[in-house]
Amino acid sequence: MLPNFAYIRPGSVKDAVDSLSSSGARVFAGGTDLIGCLRDEIFEAESVVSLNGIKELSGIRDTSDGGLRIGALTTVTEVAEHETVRQRYAGLAQAAESVASPQLRNQGTLGGNLCQRPRCWYFRGDFPCAKKGGAQCFAINGVNRYHCIFGGSVCVIVHPSDTAPALISLGAQVKIDGPGGERTIPLETFYILPEEDHERETVLETGEIVTEVILPPLEGWKSSYRKARERGSWDFALASVALAVREEGNRVREARVVFGGVAPKPWRSEPVEKEITGKRIDAGRARRAGEAAVKEAEPLDYNEYKIPLLQGLVEESLLAI
Ligand SMILES: Cc1cc2nc3c(=O)[nH]c(=O)nc-3n(C[C@H](O)[C@H](O)[C@H](O)COP(=O)(O)OP(=O)(O)OC[C@H]3O[C@@H](n4cnc5c(N)ncnc54)[C@H](O)[C@@H]3O)c2cc1C
Repeated sequence: MLPNFAYIRPGSVKDAVDSLSSSGARVFAGGTDLIGCLRDEIFEAESVVSLNGIKELSGIRDTSDGGLRIGALTTVTEVAEHETVRQRYAGLAQAAESVASPQLRNQGTLGGNLCQRPRCWYFRGDFPCAKKGGAQCFAINGVNRYHCIFGGSVCVIVHPSDTAPALISLGAQVKIDGPGGERTIPLETFYILPEEDHERETVLETGEIVTEVILPPLEGWKSSYRKARERGSWDFALASVALAVREEGNRVREARVVFGGVAPKPWRSEPVEKEITGKRIDAGRARRAGEAAVKEAEPLDYNEYKIPLLQGLVEESLLAI
């Protein structure tokens, strides 16, 4: 059953930040993740601060330099269907299209998708795990089929969002507002590993909210997002690959490759970037890049299957692009 909480619906970012300054306050965007977390008592809320009355947080606008600004309250469907996103940032459109079900994409927002909590069944279940302040991560020696093969330590979750790896591969920045004022940081530095702080997944401090995602102009870049899931219909990624490349004369000049579903945060793969930069992509290069992708993987007892899966996704993504 959903516990009692105060419901606050401010009309401006400043009022939202003020309302969120008390420690028991939680941000509510589309509510598709938050309400489940509260109902299942994963965490508590004294008050829930809805962003839905703040009009400026919705919508997609061109920037003067040819990039895009996407308000945090823009729905995942709007992102997936936006003409400019589809034409210039194909990887993001493909990632947004692959999120959950149509109903969840209509209700869920981009900001919520980036800030959703992990799906580990020990964290979501009735276990006093490390992420909830307990003494241990039950997944390390437990049933860890859906857990990480990179970046694990005191907690072995995987990052659940599809849009985050795609946005990072596209060089996106995220704008944050809070009690200390506004700041804009690369989305890549927004996420942290459990070894830095295993009770949270982002750099957001109390009272801070994501207000906007900013995409740079990407003249001459191509991008894609490829996702493997257990079910043919909607499901979280077992592994995914976001790829953005700029080619000149059939050779890759710049590349950003980011994995989803395999690490506690979106995982930038320098080995793959190194393997393809300056090179022509052919079958042999794609195979070597796939091998490089998983060289440093450290599987747990039940998730070794993620190694050939990720390797294949990297190979397929490179040949397709
Ligand atoms: C059955 C199911 C399947 C799903 N499958 C997928 C999938 O395949 N891929 C995928 O990527 N996602 C998937 N999701 C997650 C879904 O996409 C997210 O629930 C949704 O995007 C969250 O958006 P929301 O606006 O509803 O967020 P909310 O539920 O409102 O918020 C989610 C979290 O983010 C915080 N938050 C929200 N907005 C902000 C903000 N602007 N600033 C700071 N904090 C904020 C909230 O406090 C909360 O902790 C699935 C969810 C469900 C329930």
